[in-house]
Amino acid sequence: MEFICDMLASRVVFGVGSLKRLPEELDRLSLSRVLVFSTPEQRDHAEQVVALIGSRAAAVFDRAVMHVPTETQSLALAEVKRLGVQGGIAIGGGSTTGLCKALALEMDFPFVAIPTTYAGSEMTPIWGLTAEGAKRTGRDARVRPRTVIYDPTLTLSLPVQLSGTSGMNAIAHCVEALYAENANPVASLMAEEGIRVLAQNLPRIAHSPANLEVRTEALYGAWLSGVALGSVGMALHHKLCHVLGGSFNLPHAETHTIVLPHAAAFNLPVTPEAHARTARALGADEPAQALYDLLISLGAPPALKNLGMKETDLDRAAQLATRDPYYNPRPVTEPVIRTLLDNAYHGRRPTPL
Ligand code: NAD
Repeated sequence: MEFICDMLASRVVFGVGSLKRLPEELDRLSLSRVLVFSTPEQRDHAEQVVALIGSRAAAVFDRAVMHVPTETQSLALAEVKRLGVQGGIAIGGGSTTGLCKALALEMDFPFVAIPTTYAGSEMTPIWGLTAEGAKRTGRDARVRPRTVIYDPTLTLSLPVQLSGTSGMNAIAHCVEALYAENANPVASLMAEEGIRVLAQNLPRIAHSPANLEVRTEALYGAWLSGVALGSVGMALHHKLCHVLGGSFNLPHAETHTIVLPHAAAFNLPVTPEAHARTARALGADEPAQALYDLLISLGAPPALKNLGMKETDLDRAAQLATRDPYYNPRPVTEPVIRTLLDNAYHGRRPTPL
């Protein structure tokens, strides 16, 4: 066995009610004046943070949006400088965490992330920025939050459908971690456990979204998936979703949900250990089929056409996804990816290609 394991994890505070530990976590980081970040939809969550930390909150910046447009980054940067804050608090999903990461790319900007979806961004050194319709991403250790507070109570308000697709997004991180170029035993243990926990609990959320125990398990799975995503490289699945989200403006979690069974059907047959682990975690002999069944059971949209993608864009998507070389356990060619995308577009059951 030979591997490199580079898991510089942030400090994690996990548990029901852990939000109330925010003031002591700010003390630990010596942060006495911060800006609180959220999307417009989660202003109430940001206000909850302000109520908790009082005068340490200089203001709320509630303009986080998906994929971090550079205009939003500039606006937030100006606000940070105007208010003279020492750091920030990001309460929300990957969009809000992503905005604080974008600030940490530009300046010394310590922040606490309080995730409220299952996207996993808070555990990764991956940043993303969008300008003129094109999204750039990169890895930089400086963008990691100093502390991550996971309070399952905050996920109770995550709508049922988004809970399902956000959870599938987390499963996608785990599946690709299992066959990553730099896969390592610790990431693989976490990824397998992440798939198991999420696959068991996402259908339970669909039936009882207010069950805090089930929400806690799902958030635990999301943490596992975020660590896996942050510690190894990704492959075809994430490349396809990056192209579909960045160039065709498709919604992040739903796109991951639809593409995952097809990417798994393509890659798992040539990666026996990842196949075995995914199958074991899902309790199924055919993991790609089981992922498709899971998607259906969650009531998630099964087809890219359901997300508003145009069939005439499939050729360009296949070109963009195969234009530049990147690691994948199986070589990708434009015709085969075009067929894979066609299956995802129509929401067909995944087929081996
Ligand atoms: P999001 O952050 O865009 O949230 C989606 C919507 O749900 C928003 O309106 C948000 O306010 C709302 N919401 C979130 N939590 C809620 C809650 N508990 N209750 C009610 N509403 C809630 O969605 P996301 O899927 O978490 O993040 C997607 C973005 O994150 C994309 O831009 C993606 O590229 C990025 N991302 C980055 C990484 C990384 O490692 N850098 C990883 C995953 C995702």
